[in-house]
Amino acid sequence: MSKHVAVIGAGVIGLCTAVYCIERGWRVTVVERNGETRDGCSFGNGGMIVPSHIVPLAAPGAVTQALKWMLQPSAPFHIKPRASWPLVDWGLKFWQAANAEHVRRAAPLLRDLNLASRGCYQDLAAATDGDIEVRLTGTLMLCKTRHALDEEAKTAQLARELGMEAHVLDARATAALDPGTRMDVVGAVHFPLDASVTPDRLIYTLQRRAREHGARFRWSTGVTGFRVENRALRALTTATGDVIEADEFVLAAGAWSGRLAQELRLGLPMQAGKGYSLTLSRPRVQPRHCAILVEARVFVSPMGEALRIGGTMEMASAASSRRCRATTLISSLPTSDASTHGAGCGLVLPTACRTSDEASTFRTS
Ligand SMILES: Cc1cc2nc3c(=O)[nH]c(=O)nc-3n(C[C@H](O)[C@H](O)[C@H](O)COP(=O)(O)OP(=O)(O)OC[C@H]3O[C@@H](n4cnc5c(N)ncnc54)[C@H](O)[C@@H]3O)c2cc1C
Repeated sequence: MSKHVAVIGAGVIGLCTAVYCIERGWRVTVVERNGETRDGCSFGNGGMIVPSHIVPLAAPGAVTQALKWMLQPSAPFHIKPRASWPLVDWGLKFWQAANAEHVRRAAPLLRDLNLASRGCYQDLAAATDGDIEVRLTGTLMLCKTRHALDEEAKTAQLARELGMEAHVLDARATAALDPGTRMDVVGAVHFPLDASVTPDRLIYTLQRRAREHGARFRWSTGVTGFRVENRALRALTTATGDVIEADEFVLAAGAWSGRLAQELRLGLPMQAGKGYSLTLSRPRVQPRHCAILVEARVFVSPMGEALRIGGTMEMASAASSRRCRATTLISSLPTSDASTHGAGCGLVLPTACRTSDEASTFRTS
């Protein structure tokens, strides 16, 4: 009998895990607390696959910048102040990691991880006859000021040192890449290796593929705890009263993973990060490229006929209500076309290089 893997969470991480496990011949059960028709982070994101993101969040200057943003109502980043030891612990780890040495060690790892991820998406697109469309137009980092362009040029230089293509463009060269869109910028950095997908199409294709290959889905089944015997994890317990036994367990519950990990006394340093997006179904202008408006920290991602715009990272508990400022900011964009709004919670780790040693407390067999 082949190994049985129980995956907690049917977001993009859980579904990718399910597909790859089942293709190795293992039996897979995906346990999801919501029903099959659901939304959340894996549906409302920018769909951008970004090997260009080689600089981790914890980098020199990040702490000072975050503190400044805390004082600005419309800033793209916000930490909801609250008496929380895990948040303080996370902050300390982030502060310790925000240095040049961390960037030097993390950048090649992030490059390799992101390029491997891009390759996997292309393989999946080929294996699903294009049901997952991977658009290979790259990302434009659009800069309104010379200072921002100079800073982005440094990242471009680092990318080139790591063997990746990156082009620094003036305003004219930027406009030439996308003649149909008027851009008020001094220039941009183009990362041609970046790509993008349409998130809900990706999710439903992964789900169908996993099911066709024999994965079982347990919808509306929230995992509430674990059965542990002799320091080995044996089963999941659920809100519906079921016990799901397996040989291996994958925790892919997104922003809720930290809370579940606490049940196992795993001290994973994770905080929920909430972001917001808005989707125009038929925009009057459709850019060709995914872009990040550097100063505003807003992403713009064309998805077929639709255009998704989003940004703002709020570190608050996954259950907290939406941040009004950010929602208002995005809602104030002209939206005469039919549009949908969304918020999603993802996980934010304090460092890019160090979590596996903290997760090795359990054996599963
Ligand atoms: C606005 C925005 C834009 C983004 N843009 C990008 C982008 O362009 N590129 C990119 O790479 N990333 C982007 N991200 C991040 C990306 O969306 C997330 O990293 C990713 O979706 C996380 O997937 P996940 O499977 O870990 O979590 P989720 O999608 O949150 O899935 C976790 C699942 O676990 C389920 N679950 C939780 N608790 C339990 C439980 N106890 N029992 C059973 N099930 C449970 C949840 O219901 C959920 O379905 C963006 C995020 C946001 C918010």
